[in-house]
Amino acid sequence: MKSNMDNCLFCKISKKEVPAEIVFENDELVIFPDINPKAPRHYLVVSKKHIGSVKEMVKEDAELLGKMIWAAREETRKRKINGYKLIFNVGRGGGQIIDHIHLHLLGFN
Ligand code: AMP
Ligand code: ZN
Repeated sequence: MKSNMDNCLFCKISKKEVPAEIVFENDELVIFPDINPKAPRHYLVVSKKHIGSVKEMVKEDAELLGKMIWAAREETRKRKINGYKLIFNVGRGGGQIIDHIHLHLLGFN
C-alpha cells in the first residue's frame, strides 16, 4: 500500500505538528511513549524520514534502521530496562497500523 506522507501521524509528531511526549530526539529520529502500551514500558522509535515500512526501505536506509536500534538500546540503558523486545511490525498481516516505519521498544523489566 502506498504511504501518504501528507497525512501521516508519525511525520506530524516528528515535526511537532501533533503533540507527543518526546523523550529523545536527534536529527534523524524521535522516541515517544506508545499511547496504548502493550508492555509496562512501551516506546516507539520513529525516523524523521518517511519510510512506509521495512518493505518500502531502500538499501541506503539500512544505516538509519541500525541507528533506530542503537537509539532504542541507549533508551533502555538510560531507563534501566533490562528485558525487552524490539519489534518492527510490517504490513497489515504483520500487525502494522501506522504506515510510517517505527520500532517498538517493549520493556518488561
Ligand atoms: P503498529 O501497529 O506497529 O503500526 O503500531 C502503531 C502504534 O502506534 C500502536 O501501538 C499505537 O498504540 C501507537 N499510536 C497510535 N497513535 C499514537 C499517538 N498519537 N501517540 C503515540 N502512539 C500512538
Ligand atoms: Zn510519515
